[in-house]
Amino acid sequence: KIQVPDAAKRIIEQLNTNGFEAYVVGGCVRDSLLGRMPEDWDITTSAKPEQVKEIFKRTVDTGIQHGTVTVLIDHEGYEVTTYRIDGEYEDGRHPKSVEFTGSLLEDLKRRDFTINAMAYSDREGLVDAFGGEMDLERRTIRCVGNSLDRFTEDALRILRAIRFSAQLDFTLEEDTRAAISLMAPNMGKVSKERIQVELTKLLLSGHPERIKAVYDNGIAPYISPHFKEAGRRLKETEKIGNLPLKKHMRWSGFLRQEEPQDAVRILKELKLDNDTIHQTKTLVSFWKMEIPADKPAIRHVMSGLSQELFEDLLCFQKVFCPNPYQAQLTVVEQFSEEILRAGDCIRLKDMAVTGRELMDAGMKPGPEMGAVLNRLFQIVLNRPECNNREYLMKSAEHFLEEQA
Ligand code: ATP
Ligand code: MG
Repeated sequence: KIQVPDAAKRIIEQLNTNGFEAYVVGGCVRDSLLGRMPEDWDITTSAKPEQVKEIFKRTVDTGIQHGTVTVLIDHEGYEVTTYRIDGEYEDGRHPKSVEFTGSLLEDLKRRDFTINAMAYSDREGLVDAFGGEMDLERRTIRCVGNSLDRFTEDALRILRAIRFSAQLDFTLEEDTRAAISLMAPNMGKVSKERIQVELTKLLLSGHPERIKAVYDNGIAPYISPHFKEAGRRLKETEKIGNLPLKKHMRWSGFLRQEEPQDAVRILKELKLDNDTIHQTKTLVSFWKMEIPADKPAIRHVMSGLSQELFEDLLCFQKVFCPNPYQAQLTVVEQFSEEILRAGDCIRLKDMAVTGRELMDAGMKPGPEMGAVLNRLFQIVLNRPECNNREYLMKSAEHFLEEQA
């Protein structure tokens, strides 16, 4: 059932030839058994990092202090990690201290969930010491070992559990869920970036509505007070999954009931990138606004947004706006396509007259000229046929006389 790619097979065979154990492990085993395409193939081995580096010509020290060496084969990197026992996790990814071990079982024991704690090699077959395969069949997220201990060691696992349940459409096993609720206060110890990475993956999954579990299990207040408040206003999460798989759209779906500045505060707190913050702010600000089924009005809206964000806005409204507006929205979409096809001027830079030309005609640069340009732009947005040099220059002179 598990088709290990040739390069990973070669790595395992080489390690075996040199007297070491080696397996593919974790996410790739889980995804293979589920019939999903694994993102990357991680290898676990009894060889120490130094030994791995001796065996393979091309390696990169990507996390050598945690036992990870990346082996390069045909320009692809494979993470090869020494069997280890972890100390406490400091940032949710890297334990403060690691101890290497010669035992695969010890290495599997440190992993978070049973479905993530399986190893496989063609030689030894599946190594499943904690009932991972059974939990895959039952579609269950269950901690390896004592769940309270595991969430105490590393509270990021709380969000990982919910995130995996959303990606795989699995349920949290009851003991694991109860431990999540109890250990929720530990979320306060996890860095905001790590929290954000998990929440973003959750929102970009097949079941973003499971973000509800973050609230239902009392985790939200330990992410931040603002994050908790956002949950009070979030009535309906089901439709978020109807949005395209774009970061800003999914975050907007989640934050759509927030005031724009509150949405921005949450996203800044969670260290989202500026593009996502800006795009989300725009969608959260505008999605409740009805766009009239009228070309001048549509050009005005289009002029304030990039083409992509305008399309995202329409798509967002299709998902969240109530039915009576939907027919109008269809017309708006049609009109906007016609506007683009006709090449109507919807950007200041596409006007037939520029500030430069106004200056060449003897007008002084400054706020007045800015105001004139803006008035010309409004004319063009209303009547695209006016976007010609002669007409606009005349209008500009006229405006200046008015101002004088
Ligand atoms: P994906 O990469 O698809 O999100 P994954 O299972 O590969 O899923 P990674 O974060 O890449 O997840 O981690 C690889 C493996 O390392 C996991 O399958 C798990 O066995 C282990 N692991 C990762 N993070 C933790 C953690 N915080 N606590 C315990 N084990 C972990
Ligand atoms: Mg992975």
